[in-house]
Amino acid sequence: MSILTRNEIIRRRYALKGAVQGVGFRPFVYHLAIEHELKGWVRNDSAGLIIEVEGDVAKIADFEKQLHHHKPQNSIVSHIESFNLTPQFEADFRILSSDNHPEITILMLPDLAICQDCIREMNDAADRRHRYPFINCTQCGPRFSITTALPYDRPNTSMAAFEMCPECEREYHDPLSRRFHAQPIACAHCGPQLELWDQKGNCVAYGDSALSQAIMHIEQGKIIALKGLGGFHLVADATLDRPVQLLRVRKHRKSKPFAVMYPSLEAIQADCVIAAEEKALLCSAAAPIVLVLRKSGIAISLWVAPNNPYLGAMLPYTPLHHLLLQALKRPIIATSGNRASEPICIDNQEALEQLRDCADFFLVHNRPIINRADDSIVRIMAGKMTLLRRSRGYAPLPIELNESTQQPILGVGGHLKNTIAYMQGNQLMLSPHIGDLSTSKAIGAHEQAIAAFSDLYRNLPARVAHDAHPDYRSTQLAQAKRVNCLSVQHHYAHALACMADNRIQAPCFAVVWDGTGYGEDGTVWGGEFLQITPEGYQRLLHFLPFPLPGGDAAILEPRRSALGILYTLQADPGCLPFPTAMSAFLWQALHHHINTPQTSSVGRLFDAVAVLLGLCDQNQFEGEAAMLVEFIAMQSDHKLVYPYHFEQGIVDWRPMLLAILNELGKDKAWIARQFHNTLAAIIVAAARLQDQRSILLTGGCFQNKLLLETAQFELRQAGFEPYWHHRIPPNDGGLAAGQVMAALRMNESCA
Ligand code: ZN
Ligand code: ZN
Ligand code: FE
Repeated sequence: MSILTRNEIIRRRYALKGAVQGVGFRPFVYHLAIEHELKGWVRNDSAGLIIEVEGDVAKIADFEKQLHHHKPQNSIVSHIESFNLTPQFEADFRILSSDNHPEITILMLPDLAICQDCIREMNDAADRRHRYPFINCTQCGPRFSITTALPYDRPNTSMAAFEMCPECEREYHDPLSRRFHAQPIACAHCGPQLELWDQKGNCVAYGDSALSQAIMHIEQGKIIALKGLGGFHLVADATLDRPVQLLRVRKHRKSKPFAVMYPSLEAIQADCVIAAEEKALLCSAAAPIVLVLRKSGIAISLWVAPNNPYLGAMLPYTPLHHLLLQALKRPIIATSGNRASEPICIDNQEALEQLRDCADFFLVHNRPIINRADDSIVRIMAGKMTLLRRSRGYAPLPIELNESTQQPILGVGGHLKNTIAYMQGNQLMLSPHIGDLSTSKAIGAHEQAIAAFSDLYRNLPARVAHDAHPDYRSTQLAQAKRVNCLSVQHHYAHALACMADNRIQAPCFAVVWDGTGYGEDGTVWGGEFLQITPEGYQRLLHFLPFPLPGGDAAILEPRRSALGILYTLQADPGCLPFPTAMSAFLWQALHHHINTPQTSSVGRLFDAVAVLLGLCDQNQFEGEAAMLVEFIAMQSDHKLVYPYHFEQGIVDWRPMLLAILNELGKDKAWIARQFHNTLAAIIVAAARLQDQRSILLTGGCFQNKLLLETAQFELRQAGFEPYWHHRIPPNDGGLAAGQVMAALRMNESCA
């Protein structure tokens, strides 16, 4: 090896992996190389980014230092490999075109909210993209939603059909431009355009006039279907009762909250209490819906989120949303453009057919959406973010794991809030939210998402993991795939998802509470305490099962859960909101065990308490009753606990429910709070029955902020280390990730 002298010329090659494409990495490297008087080249390949530089050894050392310490804002470098080569004495530094690499390890970036530079240009009357609703650059704009294949280059996006005008072409090839290799680059001359359609699909206005007419219609109280980034929104003035009520009627959506898009952060702060973490999330490139506490007496219509102290608030994230809200200067509801429980519409014609009954007009454009992505939903829990719906802005960013797999694994998810997961190497990718697999459209979208992952990463999964429920469509679809299938118990999958999210290893103790999951013994589980071992799990404890008259019908009718509870207690059901004949009929069914499956579900226990407190008798949407119990409990602050009892692996809730029955008529908030306190106390008492310090809090019940925060506080006080969800949802939206983890464990134990 030669001794390097100060002026010695060397050549060095760098291979970068991670989210390094479509974020301005090549111009960044170009500038850095020029600054350091280096020759060579940079190019994308399917595995990431490759750089070769040659020049003065000291300058290369500094170049390398800069490469490690500075990088484009939205990029993620997961790995840099470098080594020396023989100098080739090149004349300049160039950006080369991509090549095709068989091994796909680059990260697919999610869509990014419009950046400040693009907002400034869009509002500048002298700029050539003044008021252009599809402005973007290497720092912002669509990514995953327009991508058909990797690497992320224009021919592999839905912008392939748009030929660049000479001006855009110049910027695209100019290493000094903000839009150097910005794949979706466009302007009003060459890019996508807006159209306004009536309910029959007739185009009534183009371009800027389409936008100004849409604005006028919204001001007049009309409902518009708007094609956004990852799908259609239904939008209307959020301060007017009439359009909001009308949308509820047309969408058959009685009370499920609508999200609200505000013109600015200041406007959100005027209406809601915003913590620093919430502000950071609202303003992030992911721009999710953030659940924030609303102030009283605000201008938002009460119909936006009835009986709910929270608002799902978000900021405009596309140039089109910005132009709309700059003109309206007031918040709009922006709810998914879909029919009840179907996937969000992405295609213009599909939207016209599906949303004709909901929307008065359609504001559409001709840039196709390839991959569907609803708005993500985030809640701050115990000071940290928890994604309740992981979709636009997050999916399909990988979650890096300690473990890795040689062959790709697919997890097909559950039934409700379905997502799929795909793992390759040490990277776990979760699809955007698909929805409930109860309609043919949702099942089609589920299949499409699987095909999209296999296509993007050019690798069919070698193993497919699914829920243990034999009747789930996802299970049946997986079993039809003729590959190695693995059935994974629902609550075990929840626990493994939580472990992957927190990168912790077995052994640990998992508290898994949700609404419904198929249990090993064929009964419905949902109040589980699992000992997670390196090989599998043991059900250490569970809630005392109770009968559910009508089975799944109880999900939408919490009063059935209450009846099952009262039957177990042999208490008088007269207080329940039932027509007398129905109550007597169901009581008989309970007596004769006719269609009254047993469940240990804590979700259903919440439902029963909601009914006993008189908060509701029917659910308009999954989890509504449980939310009402949480919201009323927030109004009380005390530490009292009801009695409960553990015996032979069973948590007996009867003493608690009897105490609640005795207290009915007292302050509801007080009772609801005590119910939460008792559940937290049960968690701590259960944790004390075993040896592990790491306690997982997972399953749909832990979307409840009061429950999660009380439990994690009490666990810490008792010397335990609680873990909960952040990037993978605690609800069934995270199941697919846990299923993949279960398959991975099988691989390991086979190897
Ligand atoms: Zn930008
Ligand atoms: Zn152009
Ligand atoms: Fe679940």
